[in-house]
Amino acid sequence: MITRFDRLMTDLPPTKDPSPNAAAAVQELLGGKFGEMSTLMNYTFQSFNFRGRGEKRPFYDLIANIATEEFAHVELVVYAINLLLTGTTPRGDDPTDTPLKGVKDARNSYHFLATGQQAFCGDSMGNFWTGQHVYSSGNLKLDLLHNFFLECGARANKIRVYEMAKEPTARALTGFLLVRGGVHIVAYAKALEKLSGVSVGKLLPIPDISNKRFPESKKHEDAGLHRILYRFSPDDYTRVGEVWNGLHPDDHSELEVVDGMPEGVVPPDLEAEPQLASPVGPDESD
Ligand code: MN
Ligand code: MN
Repeated sequence: MITRFDRLMTDLPPTKDPSPNAAAAVQELLGGKFGEMSTLMNYTFQSFNFRGRGEKRPFYDLIANIATEEFAHVELVVYAINLLLTGTTPRGDDPTDTPLKGVKDARNSYHFLATGQQAFCGDSMGNFWTGQHVYSSGNLKLDLLHNFFLECGARANKIRVYEMAKEPTARALTGFLLVRGGVHIVAYAKALEKLSGVSVGKLLPIPDISNKRFPESKKHEDAGLHRILYRFSPDDYTRVGEVWNGLHPDDHSELEVVDGMPEGVVPPDLEAEPQLASPVGPDESD
């Protein structure tokens, strides 16, 4: 079971000059092959399916616990897309004003035709997310190797979206996710090390660029978020610390399990967009 809190993991600033095409790029981080829907559902299915938990309990705890954080990442990306779409069309309820003409050439029309200036469960090209992105093999080493690869691929995509979109909302999002995704990369590398004895951490970082190069990531690393694994449960998943311990491979800081979720912030409450439901009715009948 899961408990839900009406909080966002980090603050997302609004964008003064909103961009439908930046929102389209950010969709890749939501419903792309390497997006947050994929990390959420991969770890969720792997943890539900996990057999032989006895001696493997710390690995079960790790995968189940990280799955919970991914739910919060899905939530964060959805809010970022909504913020990037807010203000892309003038608010009003007269359809003859052609209020959506400014976004006729937006590269993703689903944001305006199929949703109400909202995120949808798909990638930057409009392909809907699919369960075919979920890998749950029943072999712990294979699953962990897959998860390490998935997080590294996700990191590459975050960096590319950062390089594509300068909007403060997009940069705050990618900056934060690079740090938290970095935690998951190190966690899966450590899990593989404990199972196999191979020093997977020597591969890091993949791609070969430190999070400290991104100012929006550096501020979270300065606050220590790259060395913290949150335990998203009051009493369960207590053995994550048997994997998440020792030193961070990047700056050799001490890794720490924090009991409970991060404090987070109140999510933005965005205004309605009447032009998407225009004309506002019901109209008077003759
Ligand atoms: Mn994530
Ligand atoms: Mn992750």
